[in-house]
Amino acid sequence: MESLWNDQEAATFGTDPLGQRVYTSRLLGRNPALVLHGGGNTSVKTVEKDFFGDEVALCHVKGSGWDLATIERAGFAPVRMSALLKMAELESMTDADMVTQQRAAMTNPDAPAASIEAILHAVLPFRFVDHSHANAIAALTCNADGEARVKECFGDRVIVVPYVMPGFILARTIYEIIKGRDLKAEGIEGMVLLKHGLFTFDDDARRSYELHIEMVTMAETYLASKAGGWSAPTGAAVEDLAGLAALRQAVSRLRGVPVIAKLDASPEAVGYSLAAGVAEFGTRGPLTPDHSIRTKRAPGYLAGDDLEGSLAAYAEAYRAYFERHQKGETMLDPSPRFVIWPGKGVVSFGANVKEAGIVADIAAHTLRTVSLGEAVGGWEPLPEKDIFEIEYWELEQAKLRKGPARKVHEGKVALVTGCAAGIGFAIAESLAEQGAQVIGLDIDKEIPEIMQKIGGIGMVVNLTEDEPVQAAIDAVVRGFGGIDIVVSNAGIFPKNEFLGEMTQNDWDRTILINLTSHQKLMNKTVPFVKKGVDASIIFVGSRNFKAPGPGAAAYSCSKAALTQLCRVASLELAPSKVRVNIVHPDAVFDTKLWTPEALERSAVRYGMTVEEYKTKNLMKVEIKSKDIGNMVAAMASPLFSKVTGAQIPVDGGNDRVI
Ligand code: ZN
Repeated sequence: MESLWNDQEAATFGTDPLGQRVYTSRLLGRNPALVLHGGGNTSVKTVEKDFFGDEVALCHVKGSGWDLATIERAGFAPVRMSALLKMAELESMTDADMVTQQRAAMTNPDAPAASIEAILHAVLPFRFVDHSHANAIAALTCNADGEARVKECFGDRVIVVPYVMPGFILARTIYEIIKGRDLKAEGIEGMVLLKHGLFTFDDDARRSYELHIEMVTMAETYLASKAGGWSAPTGAAVEDLAGLAALRQAVSRLRGVPVIAKLDASPEAVGYSLAAGVAEFGTRGPLTPDHSIRTKRAPGYLAGDDLEGSLAAYAEAYRAYFERHQKGETMLDPSPRFVIWPGKGVVSFGANVKEAGIVADIAAHTLRTVSLGEAVGGWEPLPEKDIFEIEYWELEQAKLRKGPARKVHEGKVALVTGCAAGIGFAIAESLAEQGAQVIGLDIDKEIPEIMQKIGGIGMVVNLTEDEPVQAAIDAVVRGFGGIDIVVSNAGIFPKNEFLGEMTQNDWDRTILINLTSHQKLMNKTVPFVKKGVDASIIFVGSRNFKAPGPGAAAYSCSKAALTQLCRVASLELAPSKVRVNIVHPDAVFDTKLWTPEALERSAVRYGMTVEEYKTKNLMKVEIKSKDIGNMVAAMASPLFSKVTGAQIPVDGGNDRVI
């Protein structure tokens, strides 16, 4: 492992201790083999003037909710040293009281809550303290001989601390170990917390950081010598997208909410999934206790092709684990956060794309570390009772209870066609606002950028072509695990052509885009939608179907046939609990279909002004794209969970339709 320190870059963070602290914290955060997603913590001790001009000794500790990779000055909580040292003297203290007292001791009450390791940072008599959960330290210490290996690797440079629960008890344990000692005189440069992580410290920011890099490198070198030329197994994946969608559906059911599934089919993940004995050693436990909050104690293992049976066994084992250790806590859902899928790879799950990504990162580092740990003498992570204490920690349970309310479509994957503008865009936007991961398919070359604006993904596809559409759908399933919502919207509105004047090409093209491309989309998406969660297909029709006008035969006929396609689909898919409905908008003029000229032409034909024409419905209201977007999002939601085969007009009331 290399030091990433750079003098020029360091200078841009300021030469004061807090500036240097921000810089070296980011350097730690840049290396995922050291810390991942909010893991690890750092601090710096300073003496400053408070608001009243009095000198006060502070420990600036990483605030909770901040990530070392992106931390700023504002991400550190300034806590009075006097209070932290006083807390270290207490015989006992609940973690909830500790958090409250740490907050009460901050000179800026608006700063984030200090890390639960604040007291531990305070008692270490060095200006800078760096703490990580490095992979190499886990591989070194998650072993029956952990302590002896640490001594062999680092000699007397570090203090070895047996595992105790992080928080007050850990701070207290370390306070007792170092009380009355002169660590500087003894040449102590760090602490290895068995089955947890590494601390290094120094009065110089760079030195403390570089000690960290040096010690992790020593651990890596030590492990490599023990491994004797061993390298992680690799394998080639057998792709099974239908199986992936079925797996995601089953995990969603177990968890009680739709989840995003992220497949890791890298050679390393596949090799791990096929390693002899992985069902056993791969499910012993996490590489650092912190991870269990994201990943639970252990991943699932899918035996054979029995997805349901394997998941049921996982849930049963989880319930038993909870019962063995619970002291009145509320059980979390019993679904795995990631699973080992032999021959296919590793699949991670999250309530949304971000969470699935975090779990996937942790999983990738876990399998690498577990594999190595097992190869160099046996992977032996923390016992389950210690993991339970972290997973069901009062502070963590409180955090979960306080979490933001779920959005209605969170965890769902929605495919929307023809969404570069107008009604299609409004639908994509409404679904995204309500939490869905939206994938937009459109022939417009700008679709990737357009979808990016709403946090979605855009793919340039001609919906009348088979192979590109299939490739796009496969990519969606590969990326997110399945498809729950399909909004079949793509369409054109050809310029007014009367039957006697219409070219054959106009007719054919309209039918191809407005009808046949939808049939093709059904053909390719239905197998996946059947494995969706609260699955729903929505077609975008038109008032024209029930109330046609002259000069638009191809358009009217295509929408009438599309409505019939919807009715047949609803009959076919009802047994699979997939709802199929159609929305019939009318007179939506904020779309690409309606140029000012087309609007003028239509108004004239009805003998109206453009304004009159825009509100020519019974309620005299203007219908906007967003009205359709919100209606479609509602139709895809549980509100419509028992509605299929319905035709919903969004037209302000039309006497020819009513
Ligand atoms: Zn830690």
